[in-house]
Amino acid sequence: MSTPLALATRTPLEDAHAQLAAAVAHLGYGEGLHRMLATARRELTVSVPLRRDDGSVAVYVGHRVQHNLSRGPAKGGLRFSPAVDLDEVRALAMWMTWKCALVDVPYGGAKGGIAIDPRAHSTAELERVTRRYTSEILPIIGPDIDIPAPDIGTDEQTMAWMMDTYSVNVGHTVPGVVTGKPISLGGSLGRASSTSRGVAHVSILALRHRRIRVDQATAVVQGFGKVGRDAARFLAEAGIRVQAVSDVDGAVYSTTGLDVPALIRHAERTGSVVGFPDAEPLDPAELLLLDVDLLVPAAIEGVITAENASRVKARVIVEGANGPTTQDADAILAERDVFVVPDILANSGGVIVSYFEWVQANQAYRWTEDEVTLRLSERITAAWNAVLAYAERRSLTLRQAATALAVERVTEAHRLRGLYP
Ligand code: GLU
Repeated sequence: MSTPLALATRTPLEDAHAQLAAAVAHLGYGEGLHRMLATARRELTVSVPLRRDDGSVAVYVGHRVQHNLSRGPAKGGLRFSPAVDLDEVRALAMWMTWKCALVDVPYGGAKGGIAIDPRAHSTAELERVTRRYTSEILPIIGPDIDIPAPDIGTDEQTMAWMMDTYSVNVGHTVPGVVTGKPISLGGSLGRASSTSRGVAHVSILALRHRRIRVDQATAVVQGFGKVGRDAARFLAEAGIRVQAVSDVDGAVYSTTGLDVPALIRHAERTGSVVGFPDAEPLDPAELLLLDVDLLVPAAIEGVITAENASRVKARVIVEGANGPTTQDADAILAERDVFVVPDILANSGGVIVSYFEWVQANQAYRWTEDEVTLRLSERITAAWNAVLAYAERRSLTLRQAATALAVERVTEAHRLRGLYP
């Protein structure tokens, strides 16, 4: 069935606003409150000049958006990607507010981004860009104000540079200003794989809920970066047959299931999953349409759209990425009874362990990896149970339930604090 093209062109911000509007309508909130919840508390756009290795100067644009601070300091990642713009950062910041409320960590939501392709720059250039951006947004970040973390295109080294730049400027070392740091600088054990661990944990809960045997289940994972790579590994360790994975360069497929540890070694050696010897090459667009039990989109926003949603054959979708399913696609999937576990629940393992890292940094005390893993699974299971119960009680999809529950929690904090003055 063909779908009008206009439907497929929604932006992440339009999707985020549509999700909020549905939650507000369900909760019966008035116009003023809706407007407050829809509007970012603070937005800062900065120019980031970079002296390139060849001596020339390039200028990039960076943003930091703090969407809501009702439940605590702002929290959210920093993205380096050519696709970054203010509206994308606004959407991602709003989703962070709901995510933090949903898993009950004491934060509001934020996001940052620089419109830059990190693959086109040397390490020295990326360090200079990161330090200049950090110093530009310095007045609005801090361990009690806004705590950045890695996202697409950034990593623990980026966080180390941010922590150092902030610390040098304030005159003392402040490990709690960012999370996702290297272990030797106060990073948490288990943080690097925490988003993936949460994705796998929720995938197993979702398969069981749909009465699909985990040891007989098949899966595909879109994206083989910070989230997809370890998600594929954890799914395979749980006995799930991971039949296909993709990255920006292509996709690989095997009906009998990929040897994920061998594939990880191949990708580390060559920089891509492409060319993995024990698999067939696959068109990455086809990966989303394979007939499997579980589809994990773990790359970018807007990949399951009104254009392809009616052809998705997976029974369960667990959103490792932020915003991979557009609102129009969501309606089509719900109609077809595809069980979608929304991003703000499915990929919350990252911010949950970010919270643990921040707690450890503030207490100058380190937990063991087992403690981190146990507390992560407790917290994400509690959020899963809460969302499922809310959805069943009110006949909502998991996304509608997760958003409404989070919006309710943020609103409760806002009401208790009151409007000043
Ligand atoms: N960037 C991650 C996310 O989208 C982690 C954010 C954080 O840990 O603050 O959830």
